[in-house]
Amino acid sequence: MRRKLVAGNWKMHGNLVTNKQLLDEVINGLQGSRDADYAVCVPYPYLPSVKSSLQNSNIAWGAQNVSQHEKGAYTGEISASMLNDFECRYVIVGHSERRALYGESSLIVAEKYLAAQKSGIIPILCVGETLEQRESGVTERIIEEQLTAVINLSGVESLQKAVIAYEPVWAIGTGKTATPQQAQDVHTFIRSVISKLDSNTAKELIILYGGSVKANNAAELFVMPDIDGGLIGGASLVASDFVAICQAMQN
Ligand code: PEP
Repeated sequence: MRRKLVAGNWKMHGNLVTNKQLLDEVINGLQGSRDADYAVCVPYPYLPSVKSSLQNSNIAWGAQNVSQHEKGAYTGEISASMLNDFECRYVIVGHSERRALYGESSLIVAEKYLAAQKSGIIPILCVGETLEQRESGVTERIIEEQLTAVINLSGVESLQKAVIAYEPVWAIGTGKTATPQQAQDVHTFIRSVISKLDSNTAKELIILYGGSVKANNAAELFVMPDIDGGLIGGASLVASDFVAICQAMQN
C-alpha cells in the first residue's frame, strides 16, 4: 500500500517572519492528520528555523537542490551531508527550473539523486515534458530518458527510497493544470517503464503530480489511481490553500 505525500516547494520565496506565520498555520491546520505524509522544501538558509518549527509536528522538511559532489572546491554549493546536519528528509532533484535555468542535464540530476541517497535523504525526482515536446508527441520518450539516467546510475531498486514527481513544464506556475486523465496517463507510463525492470518497485513507487495544483483542483487529481499526492509550488505559500490541498489528499 503506497503512502500518500503532499510536498510544498517554496522556491525562492519567504523570510524568517512570513515562514514562521505560514508554518504555524499549516501545523495548526494539519494537526492530528496521519493519513498522508506532508513536507515542505525550503530555501537553504531557512532550514534551521524550519526544522525548529516543524520538529514536533507531522510535517517533514527538505531542500530544493543538492550538489552532486560530496565536498570540495565548489563555491556556493551545498552537499547532501550538510542537508543531513539539518535532518532533511527530502530533497528535490531535477526540477524543471534547475534543468532549464541552470543547465542541469539528466546525468547531473542522476548524480544529485545518487548523492542524496548516499546520505539517506529521499530524492524527489522531477520529470516532465515541455509544451513543445508534448505537442510533437515525444512526452513518453522524454520522461523515459529522464528516468533511465537515474536507473542507469543508481539501479531500479533505488526507486524504493525515492519519490517521483511528474511535472509537465507547461503546467508549472502557469495556472494550466494537466487534466486528471493526462496526468494519470503519464503516471501509468512511468509505472510501466519501471515495471518492465522490477514490478514490485513499480507497484510501491510514490508518484506525485505537480503543476498548478490548487485547492479547487487537487481532489480530482488525487482521486486518480496512480497519483499518490502532489508537489505544490505557488499554493504551498498560502497556508489555507496548502492545508486544503493536503486535506483533499486525505479524503
Ligand atoms: C513546482 O514548481 O514544483 C510547481 C508544481 O509549481 P506550481 O504548483 O506553482 O505550478
